[in-house]
Amino acid sequence: MILDMFKLDGKVAVVTGANTGLGQGMAVALAQAGAKVVGVARRSCDDTKKIINGFGGEFAEVIADLSSTEVIPSILEGSVKAFGRVDILVNNAGLIRRCDAIDYSESDWDDVVTVNQKVVFFLSQAFAKQYMKQNSGGKIIGVASMLSYQGGVRVPAYTASKSALMGLTRALANEWAKHNINVNAIAPGYMVTNNTAQIRDDEERNSAILERIPAARWGTPEDMQGTIVWLASDASNYVNGFTVAVDGGWLAR
Ligand code: NAP
Repeated sequence: MILDMFKLDGKVAVVTGANTGLGQGMAVALAQAGAKVVGVARRSCDDTKKIINGFGGEFAEVIADLSSTEVIPSILEGSVKAFGRVDILVNNAGLIRRCDAIDYSESDWDDVVTVNQKVVFFLSQAFAKQYMKQNSGGKIIGVASMLSYQGGVRVPAYTASKSALMGLTRALANEWAKHNINVNAIAPGYMVTNNTAQIRDDEERNSAILERIPAARWGTPEDMQGTIVWLASDASNYVNGFTVAVDGGWLAR
């Protein structure tokens, strides 16, 4: 039956940045759909664990700072050790640094591009190797942005990295679809999390953004939940290399 295809029972999902915001929302949704979840974060995921254990879900955490590729082997090993295998990777962790392009520093550029782009690629590569070793196929889901499509203002490294993520989603799908690995992404619109606190606090930016969103409200971590379960499940097995906008209609304007 069709709703059974959305179930994630027996699957292991690894979500980076699961301690807060969209990552927490997606980790909770994957666990509600039946997956065992590994949260990868540079600080404790206690809140997420509490929510998931609260409805009987299973959760483990791997503490890792994603500002270097060095942590990748320990993320994979820690995840496999926790629940025996891996089936779903959600590359959610990301950061934004705002500054006029004319003054943008090399260190801000490197910090943003390393976490949002470089580590996403090499973590995906490590998981794809593991899926091939397991002979299981698997899912890799990136978190893109409206700035995968648009230029944005004062966030050149973020725009570059999120535009790259959408291209990478296509590139990896082309190579790995034949191994039953689906590589897709979700592009959230303007969502209420730490990432957007600065622009929500700016009254002028806040109302300009709200005016443009057809749904007339900011999105929430809960708004990501249906799409992440769909992309993580067998219901999307023939969806490859695509970025789905969850944006209240922003891109339709
Ligand atoms: P958030 O609350 O700031 O969450 C970002 C997550 O990434 C946090 O868990 C953060 O950890 C983690 N992270 C950043 N650098 C890290 C590092 N070096 N090592 C380990 N973890 C690191 O913002 P969010 O909105 O939920 O962001 C989640 C994803 O959605 C990001 O990729 C973001 O670019 C994307 N996104 C957000 C929006 C939006 O409107 N909110 C729109 C489009 C795309 P800490 O808590 O330790 O900092």
